[in-house]
Amino acid sequence: MAQSKRDYYEVLGIDKSASQDDIKKAYRSLAKKYHPDNKETGDAEKFKEATEAYSVLSDDSKRKTYDQFGAAAFDQTAGGQNPFAGSGFDGFNFNSDSGDFGNLNDLFRQMFGGAGFGGSSSSYSRNSRGGANRGEDTLMRIRINFMDAINGKTVSIPLTYDEKCTDCNGTGAKNGTEFETCSTCGGHGRVISQQRTIFGIMQQETVCPECGGTGKKIKTKCPTCNGAGYFHVKKNVDVTIPAGINDGQQIRLQGKGERGSNGGPNGDLYIEIVVQNNTSFVRKSNDIYIDMDVDFVSCCLGDELTVPTVYGDVELKIPAGTQSGQTFRLKNKGVKDVRGSTYGDEYIKINVKIPTYINEKQKKALEDYKAASDKDSFKDKFKRAFKK
Ligand SMILES: [Zn+2]
Ligand SMILES: [Zn+2]
Repeated sequence: MAQSKRDYYEVLGIDKSASQDDIKKAYRSLAKKYHPDNKETGDAEKFKEATEAYSVLSDDSKRKTYDQFGAAAFDQTAGGQNPFAGSGFDGFNFNSDSGDFGNLNDLFRQMFGGAGFGGSSSSYSRNSRGGANRGEDTLMRIRINFMDAINGKTVSIPLTYDEKCTDCNGTGAKNGTEFETCSTCGGHGRVISQQRTIFGIMQQETVCPECGGTGKKIKTKCPTCNGAGYFHVKKNVDVTIPAGINDGQQIRLQGKGERGSNGGPNGDLYIEIVVQNNTSFVRKSNDIYIDMDVDFVSCCLGDELTVPTVYGDVELKIPAGTQSGQTFRLKNKGVKDVRGSTYGDEYIKINVKIPTYINEKQKKALEDYKAASDKDSFKDKFKRAFKK
């Protein structure tokens, strides 16, 4: 029971007295944020969690049931399992004298019976009656250097994954047809077991362990894959990393996740990009920030500086009287947006450098400078000089 589910109200970030409007609003913003298609903040697990919470709390009668029994009831009856792991909770049968649980039964059906949570990782019901199941999505991280993220790159990544055998369509049976009826379940694909729970004894229908729910067993193995239904493939796959990608963003490789079962398609592989830091540039979104040491004389008199950008050096004019900490913007010298054609900006922060050593000639010049400044009104003049 340690892995108990998070409270639905907590998941949606609302309190128990929340109105239907509040619930809708909370869910909408979470769904937008976590939808797997959202490259910035998408999170399939969190999306599912929020959708599940919403599917219950948005229905007044289900919400009432949930309020009454809480998460504990779900954990108890679900045997502490992840409801998405796929052992067919839609098959629950409550005892005939437990009419009070009609809603709960309905709730389970709604929750676990393939309620159709959208998103890329769950578009196939995982507990269908021996039908084709899509494989799980997988995640890997690759590290790329700062400039490759900005300019884009094609990298070759060694992958291992399972490729469906086309001769038997992943079934493992010769021609995909040479089956016989499973003797354990008599071809039903499901077996009935009894379970003692806090609600009393319940009959539970589960997937037949012998045939995995298909109701049939291979009679003659597919000679191409020797009955496995797939081939274990190891190969280098070229992955195009688009220019402008940022740390934490993901690239989806369709069909390179875990293999499906009973002829179902593979899941997808998500490649999360980890971008290494750069010693001179700091990137925030599509903008670039750099600090630049500039000689105090250049700041006093104004100057034209050679400034590095991610696309090469450019000239930047700084006015006389430039202060330490002052920031200049180079428009469109930031990173190209990964999805569009716009560019970020580069911000240059000036750090006035005072020399730690000066020669005699320089020293003399500075002493002359000092003498040329009228001592009494020195501060005023200084201010005026730099306000121009
Ligand atoms: Zn069976
Ligand atoms: Zn085969």
